[in-house]
Amino acid sequence: PIVAYLITHSAELDTARGKEMMVFFGPGGGLFLIVLSYQRDLILRFEQIEERLLHTRRQADYDELTNICNRRGLIDWLSNNAGAEPNVSGLIIDIDYFKHINDTHGHETGDAVLKQVSKLLGECLPDQSCLARWGGDEFVILLNEQSTGQAEQVANTCWQLIRDKHFPLIGHITCSVGVTSNVESNDIDTIIRNADACLYVAKRQGRNQVMNNRQLETVTE
Ligand code: GH3
Ligand code: MG
Repeated sequence: PIVAYLITHSAELDTARGKEMMVFFGPGGGLFLIVLSYQRDLILRFEQIEERLLHTRRQADYDELTNICNRRGLIDWLSNNAGAEPNVSGLIIDIDYFKHINDTHGHETGDAVLKQVSKLLGECLPDQSCLARWGGDEFVILLNEQSTGQAEQVANTCWQLIRDKHFPLIGHITCSVGVTSNVESNDIDTIIRNADACLYVAKRQGRNQVMNNRQLETVTE
């Protein structure tokens, strides 16, 4: 404003004080005008960079086929949500005889089943939980601050939802679920190892069932 005033009031500019102020504020004012003209362009570029960054981050954390988290996204969620005390329960849900679906109806139909299962599982998630595609036909759900009973209830709901759903072209499918609570740490490897041990027994016992770590103790004894 001072520079603008001096430019528009030449009498003022001719005075010693006016000259002094022009020398003092002139370069800054000029620089300000230059920055102002680039400001919109700069904001636009920053917005584009931010958008690209978000997109890249989403691609890194989400499974392309099912649009739910991938392993990386799940591990990110765990590191942001797990407390110091072990308080995270884990479920592994694996579709029974999924290879047979691919072999009989084709890979695309198999893909469609994976998408629909992801959607179904997403609908039964409680607050403070994360659903991820662990790989192939295996899904993992982590539950924060849920009791053993609540984790088992979520596991049963997931199992029932899949069992009751009618899939186009295929009909009904089943899944096996391993569920673990009260593990010794919130470390992903520990949670997965425990849930996987339950899943292994569920498969071995004939599939289409939920197995938790309390039942596992009686099975393996
Ligand atoms: P089980 O009852 O023991 O779980 O047997 P399964 O046939 O479900 O499991 P298996 O591990 O033998 O086969 C999993 C199949 O999943 C094999 C693989 O080709 C298929 N698969 C893995 N990823 C994808 C995918 O992204 N899309 C499709 N359509 N199939 C996939
Ligand atoms: Mg399977």
